[in-house]
Amino acid sequence: MNKIKSFFEVAEVEDKDGTLVVLDIDDTILYYDGVTRQWWRDTSNEVFQSCYTFYSAASELNKRWETEIANKSPLHTDEEGLRNLLATYRCIFLTARAEMEVQTQKEFKHLGIPFKSVYFCGDENKGTVLSEILLQQEREVEHVIFIDDKMHNCDNVEEAMKRKGIRCNIYLFEHNVADIV
Ligand SMILES: [Mg+2]
Repeated sequence: MNKIKSFFEVAEVEDKDGTLVVLDIDDTILYYDGVTRQWWRDTSNEVFQSCYTFYSAASELNKRWETEIANKSPLHTDEEGLRNLLATYRCIFLTARAEMEVQTQKEFKHLGIPFKSVYFCGDENKGTVLSEILLQQEREVEHVIFIDDKMHNCDNVEEAMKRKGIRCNIYLFEHNVADIV
């Protein structure tokens, strides 16, 4: 696994046709002003103190986040780098967002990214979900480039691709904007 701060750091793969780039959405291709590490920390503390079960706290935290971003516009983490990837490779988006298609569509429009091949997996394992997505691809995928800001997603995908015998390059995305999750 490599850590990168820009999509231009993704190593070029010769076989463009057989390669699929899989991008996370939140804090990978976009972020929100004000939704900082501190915001997540404070909100989680509050929510986990006031809810009885982990499930209700997690769901409340998600609601707070949706409310927080509802009237904000997303910002690009690396617009040029993303455009370069989209122009060079077959790309899909794989997000842990659940059922936020309308909102996500609006955000992509705002950022000027075509809304296609966007997969919502909720809290399912991204490795498992990606394995299923690969089976549905029209052209066979021999090489996966996976980019995500969460270590556990990177680990899960790396493990799943190993199991399937698919070559992969895994990138943990840590962009330049300070103090975001
Ligand atoms: Mg993310």
